[in-house]
Amino acid sequence: MIELKQLRAAQPELASAIDMQIELVDMQRRVQSRVPLPWIQVDPEWQKAQQTAGRPLVRFKDIPLEWSDFRLTLRQTADILHRFDALERADYDRIVALGRDGNALEPAVAAWYEATSGVDAATSSRSRAASDATAALDQVLVLALRPFLARCAEALAQRVDLGGWSHGHCPVCGWEPDFAVITPSADRRLFCGRCVAQWSFPSLTCPFCANDDRALITSFATRDGRYRVSACDVCRRYIKAYDARRAQRPVMVAVDSIATLPLDAAAMQRGYVG
Ligand SMILES: [Zn+2]
Ligand SMILES: [Zn+2]
Repeated sequence: MIELKQLRAAQPELASAIDMQIELVDMQRRVQSRVPLPWIQVDPEWQKAQQTAGRPLVRFKDIPLEWSDFRLTLRQTADILHRFDALERADYDRIVALGRDGNALEPAVAAWYEATSGVDAATSSRSRAASDATAALDQVLVLALRPFLARCAEALAQRVDLGGWSHGHCPVCGWEPDFAVITPSADRRLFCGRCVAQWSFPSLTCPFCANDDRALITSFATRDGRYRVSACDVCRRYIKAYDARRAQRPVMVAVDSIATLPLDAAAMQRGYVG
């Protein structure tokens, strides 16, 4: 990751976060390269019904999860986070124990995905809070599942038109966006914080609560104009964006989300939450 190494040279105060990101990205790329591209059967009628109801397209059974590989990925993710002090010892121990427990892990991951994706009409509505997983487990599962879900997003992007999706959450896995890009034509595309799928979303609407009163959207940018925060004065959430109108290269979420850590601090200082 040449760009991350360049960033570390330019912003040494971010070195620890960058080093952790390099390790996570390396590991996820290795895993993703050995996960087969899944064949996801999407019935056009079902797809239409899901999209109308704001439900994503990937069911748990569609994810090409090879459990021994997932266990390893979970363990390595927890190791990296713990080594960089992003995961407390007690949480680390609990997650490693869950990964070792052959009987508990599979149903726990399946239930977590069902609750956080909202893919199934029978279960209650999509909600991160519906999962009884702790924030620490959430964080590790999101990262460990990413290489597997990213292959689903790739497979669907080739075969399914996501252009009609108008919701603030991910059309592939139902998770929230955690980064955005403003395209040269001034449209905004959101990136899923779990599977990294991308979709278009109005640039002056809050993806978290759908507030579209522009008087209640606060926006501020870095001095060079490369990055921008869009914060909602209704739900107090914010999202960062890479402004490709002023850029020399395309957006790189793994790099740009780290380069903008100072913007997170600025947003939180103003009372917004990520
Ligand atoms: Zn997603
Ligand atoms: Zn909002």
